[in-house]
Amino acid sequence: MEEPPGWAADVDVSRPSIARAYDYALGGSHNFAVDREALRRAREVFPDIDLVARSNRLFLHRAVRFLAGEAGITQFLDLGSGVPTVGNVHEIVQRVNRDCRVVYVDIDPIAVIHSSMLLADDPRATVVQADVRRPESILTSRAVTEFFDLSQPVAVLMVAILHYIGDSDDPAGIVDAFRRATVPGSYLALSHISPDERTEEIEQLEQLEQRSQAARTGIVARRCPDIAALLKGYDLVDPGLVHVPMWRPDGGDGTADPFAAAPERSTLFAAVGCR
Ligand code: SAM
Repeated sequence: MEEPPGWAADVDVSRPSIARAYDYALGGSHNFAVDREALRRAREVFPDIDLVARSNRLFLHRAVRFLAGEAGITQFLDLGSGVPTVGNVHEIVQRVNRDCRVVYVDIDPIAVIHSSMLLADDPRATVVQADVRRPESILTSRAVTEFFDLSQPVAVLMVAILHYIGDSDDPAGIVDAFRRATVPGSYLALSHISPDERTEEIEQLEQLEQRSQAARTGIVARRCPDIAALLKGYDLVDPGLVHVPMWRPDGGDGTADPFAAAPERSTLFAAVGCR
């Protein structure tokens, strides 16, 4: 496993972090007062934010179960993987096929430290601290070159990460760099927040995030056609690009999506595509 560089010095407890605030929204304990306060402020403008986090996480679970099962993928590159929580990708996919390998990537030192500890005894999963805006640094990292056989298909997971990448950082170019690094038969799973529904609440959330600096670029909610454009080069599996609760709802883990009755209220779009 690669040592996260300078990790301890990296932890900033004076500013909220997306990874830690998301952990708090999901009921985790790897967060600080500043993160909890940031989430409380976010709830004031968007009261359903914890439910959106949960709905997103349930999509991640369904998508990787599909990828490890029906799609037969054994290599997973989880970009913006977050703080480990209930139902981590390696736990889910290794339940389907114990040979599955997972490389987690996150920019956040707390996410990386806790992932390293969790994965210490798992020879098939590792974590690397890196910035998804620099795809080459990830694709040439020891984690990827030692864990993956890039002549075989890989599932690239970009679940609730691209809305932290501003247009000036060329999100489409980032997606394409990972697509080009993988062979045909590889997959992309993506979820992304959108202002198409609950527009006023989402706009207020964007403004709040800009001010709080929790995310390095704030949140960039994108309209459905702009999210579709990010999926260029992938053939979407059924049901295509839809609100997250509508992506193959199966209740497989016995947990109902909080927006099952009104999927558009989730404000998240999701898709899985094959290269
Ligand atoms: N993918 C997980 C999920 O859907 O449950 C976690 C999503 S969480 C909302 C977003 C994650 O993306 C955070 O852990 C954050 O640290 C990470 N992130 C944000 N910008 C990043 C970047 N430029 N490079 C790598 N990770 C980033």
